[in-house]
Amino acid sequence: MTGSSVLTPPAHQFPQRFVSFERWNPDRIGALAMYCSDGRWGDAFDDFCHNHLHIPRYDRFAVPGGPACLVESNYDAHEPWRQLSMLVRVHQLQKIVLVSHYGCAHYAERLKLTPDECIPAQVEDLHHAAVGVLERFPRMNVQMYLAMRRNDRLSFHSVT
Ligand SMILES: [Zn+2]
Repeated sequence: MTGSSVLTPPAHQFPQRFVSFERWNPDRIGALAMYCSDGRWGDAFDDFCHNHLHIPRYDRFAVPGGPACLVESNYDAHEPWRQLSMLVRVHQLQKIVLVSHYGCAHYAERLKLTPDECIPAQVEDLHHAAVGVLERFPRMNVQMYLAMRRNDRLSFHSVT
């Protein structure tokens, strides 16, 4: 396959602005991480997933509050569960990593508490989300983590 074949006829009408150094790799890793969409944490989530969990090319399910979206008491959780179920089936997921982060605006808005005071509710939501995953996908490898911040240091802690 030649490079020019990437530019299929419909793409010719749109001026090219950038070519990524990243090369396409079609292999799926069978893992998904669900975490908050807060962009200040995104690089650290990638760092954790790539360099600690060793799940390159993992699927990213990034929504405000992360795993909180799977907890019925927070939201109408039907849509995120529908989306997750589709990914489990189509992307053949075997591992789902649930990450909740310190100082999350979702919890600050909902609970009107300090970041430290929100942690118990975040851990409870992680457990509820994990139970929900295992009810729907009993063979899934589910892991829960709390991402913490002290000044500018970011760390990841397993929740059991
Ligand atoms: Zn957040």
